[in-house]
Amino acid sequence: MDQLSVSAAAVSRSQVVRRTAVTQVPLNLVFFGPPGAGKGTQADRFAERHQIPKISTGDILRKAIQDGTRIGVLVHDTLQRGALVSDDLIISIVAERLDRPDTAKGFVLDGFPRTLPQAAALDALLAGRGGVHVIALVVHADEVIRRLADRGRHDDDAFVIKQRLAVYEHETAPVLEYYRRRKLVTVLDGNRPLDEVSEAIDAAVKDKMA
Ligand code: AMP
Repeated sequence: MDQLSVSAAAVSRSQVVRRTAVTQVPLNLVFFGPPGAGKGTQADRFAERHQIPKISTGDILRKAIQDGTRIGVLVHDTLQRGALVSDDLIISIVAERLDRPDTAKGFVLDGFPRTLPQAAALDALLAGRGGVHVIALVVHADEVIRRLADRGRHDDDAFVIKQRLAVYEHETAPVLEYYRRRKLVTVLDGNRPLDEVSEAIDAAVKDKMA
């Protein structure tokens, strides 16, 4: 074999290796957006379509409250007020959840990370696991309020909604900037019908991660 064909074989071998590696990239996703942006619904749909778990920290905390666990008792008032529970607590909950084997092919995080320390902790948890891509849903402010009011959850009354949106602006919006700087964000218009948003998410994930 001459020099040229050796290197051609090497190139095609490396392409095969790269293709194989690409198909194994786990779908580690963060769905991001203000309360009411529809990220929970879209996260559910995405997780179902791709057979990966959806991990919603809000759902985990509400279940803990419902079940009356030690954590539930601890966070009950915080959720009522629309404030954030402590970084240490939520990080340990997520760390434990991501440790479970069903996350090996990927997962959708909904409601985490919500602060910069949480984002840094997630980076550490995912070191050697392929990192994350962030899908940020943008929705008009009046649509957010309308959706939250429609939902009828106990932390969705007008005062608490305002509080949660303020917390989002102060604590959570900087997290988006953190990922944006690293070019890990796809911003999508969440005002469109559900199916259209789902399709846009699939297309973005295919583009960024396949
Ligand atoms: P959600 O269903 O994501 O809107 O979360 C409901 C509530 O749970 C929030 O208003 C917070 O009180 C609490 N919570 C959920 N996720 C987090 C998080 N990552 N950090 C701190 N608090 C959280």
